[in-house]
Amino acid sequence: ASLYKVDGWGAPYFSVNSSGNVSIRPYGTDTQPHQEIDLLKVVKKASDPRSEGGLGLQLPLIVRLPDVLKNRLESLQSAFDLAVHSNGYESHYQGVYPVKCNQDRFVVEDIVKFGSGFRFGLEAGSKPELLLAMSCLCKGSPEALLVCNGFKDAEYISLALVARKLALNTVIVLEQEEEVDLVIDLSRRLAVRPVIGVRAKLRTKHSGHFGSTSGEKGKFGLTTTQILRVVKKLEHVGMLECLQLLHFHIGSQIPSTTLLADGVSEAAQIYCELVRLGACMQVIDIGGGLGIDYDGSKSGGSDISVSYSLEEYASAVVQAVKFVCDRKAVKHPMLCSESGRAIVSHHSVLIFEAVSATVAETPAMTSVGLQYLIEGLSEEAHADYRNLSAAAMRGEYETCLIYCDQLKQRCVEQFKEGSLGMEQLASVDGLCDLVSKLIGLSDPIRTYHVNLSVFTSIPDFWGIGQLFPIIPIHRLDQRPGVKGILSDLTCDSDGKIDKFIGGESSLPLHEMEGEGGVSGVGGKYYLGMFLGGAYEEALGGIHNLFGGPSVVRVSQSDGPHSFAVTRAVPGPSCGDVLRVMQHEPELMFETLKHRAEEFLHEDGIGNGMSHASLATGLARSFHNMPYLMLQSSSCGY
Ligand code: PLP
Repeated sequence: ASLYKVDGWGAPYFSVNSSGNVSIRPYGTDTQPHQEIDLLKVVKKASDPRSEGGLGLQLPLIVRLPDVLKNRLESLQSAFDLAVHSNGYESHYQGVYPVKCNQDRFVVEDIVKFGSGFRFGLEAGSKPELLLAMSCLCKGSPEALLVCNGFKDAEYISLALVARKLALNTVIVLEQEEEVDLVIDLSRRLAVRPVIGVRAKLRTKHSGHFGSTSGEKGKFGLTTTQILRVVKKLEHVGMLECLQLLHFHIGSQIPSTTLLADGVSEAAQIYCELVRLGACMQVIDIGGGLGIDYDGSKSGGSDISVSYSLEEYASAVVQAVKFVCDRKAVKHPMLCSESGRAIVSHHSVLIFEAVSATVAETPAMTSVGLQYLIEGLSEEAHADYRNLSAAAMRGEYETCLIYCDQLKQRCVEQFKEGSLGMEQLASVDGLCDLVSKLIGLSDPIRTYHVNLSVFTSIPDFWGIGQLFPIIPIHRLDQRPGVKGILSDLTCDSDGKIDKFIGGESSLPLHEMEGEGGVSGVGGKYYLGMFLGGAYEEALGGIHNLFGGPSVVRVSQSDGPHSFAVTRAVPGPSCGDVLRVMQHEPELMFETLKHRAEEFLHEDGIGNGMSHASLATGLARSFHNMPYLMLQSSSCGY
């Protein structure tokens, strides 16, 4: 566990149990020992058709943990409640979840359900997000906020006004100055009194990757001048009392409470000014930014680490707002945050399997091979070979490497001009590998091929180099013997993971079965990517037409296994992903079937394959997931 720093990034939800498997504590520190869930057992139940009650789902697999989601939500609320009480703050905290972080229906519905006791709401940034937020909040607390952010057209604003008509506590946050004209016009036409918010472009700048849109030149929000113009316009049409919320967002993963307090103080000053100008202000919405400590270092020194706890975050916000408002004698506003990453990151774990690993080749330089090699060499290459042997006898290893490089280069040239065969070239490679190995310079990093698409499941690693904790989920009681990088199934050189938390360029891994290791689970070697519940599912693409993983929803249960699978959904099939790119699997199937009828009949290449079995096999290929099927070796034909 210490090798993979599980206690750092995993606490309080993930640890390693006495069997050497990753263990989940669904209620964080409130989890009792008998409530802990063995992740390997979950994976076996979900994927192994032979295990008792096994569901036979294909990997990769997302294990979704609603209990963890509930705990995150409650912990965030408690942190703010505590800060409000201990600082004598005279209003309350009421958060919203930005659905863009993970729009999965069950994630959003769970958040609304778990948060209804403390009026937790939703934030939407587009029309479909608004539609889903509206329908989900029908089951939430009537006071829960529905914050409408993002670029808006007339249809978006009309929809938000309809939401208010449906008694959903909707706030239209102006992100662009022009939006105010649409809001004024449409609210009159639809006869709805809107609640308006304004997003301020703060001067406070978050310097990390996620802060590139903050500061004066940021992409979103209104400048001081624009806010003043909006106030005048609303005043002019008698709607200034509709302006009730001030919003800002200085970027995700705010590294420290110093930066946070700086931004919140600036926003609180704007809030007080809006009060002075006559707006009926009620809420400060501090946006997202509550960070996750992906590497467990608590350093706050990089995009993947933050130096504060939930309690410290909440306390910094409450104190900063209180300080500014007290000095200006302004009533304390309700505090809202749009924390996404901090709510959903922990609740899902992506499980994938290593398929094979490159084996550090032991070059078999038989005397025949060597003889064969020497015979084919040019005069110069022959001289290199003799010099190499002499240097090796003298123990001059540096010199050996120089001659190896020289020899290899000459042989490649000879191969290109056609005077050296493939076998001879392979012998030279083997000889040089052997020399490197003997003098301890061979590349010790292996490549583990994993049944996964980085583009689909870890897009932020490919896109912005974001690191996530990735570890084997079992065999953690055995010291890993090798180091490796992970290479995915896509035909793309970017489809690999070669950077890991802690700045490492390889991951300690166990030998796969067949290489001297015993995995204990039928030769399978499972890895998990943790803390990826935010953004990754929403951003993932279908490069090479690999779709999303299968999903199981796993709750703590007091039954014999300490967990129950409450939902199991196979990932998109080949047919599903083909449909995304406008193909029509049904027509494709018919075309192939006709072709089969034509050709199987014509030249008899069927060799026992009937039309019927071919059709069944084809249908199965459309129906199965695009990933490697590692559970059964038989194909459908
Ligand atoms: N609110 C807004 C306006 C955002 O742009 C974002 C994401 O960048 C969030 C909330 C969520 O931020 P986080 O995931 O850091 O909580």
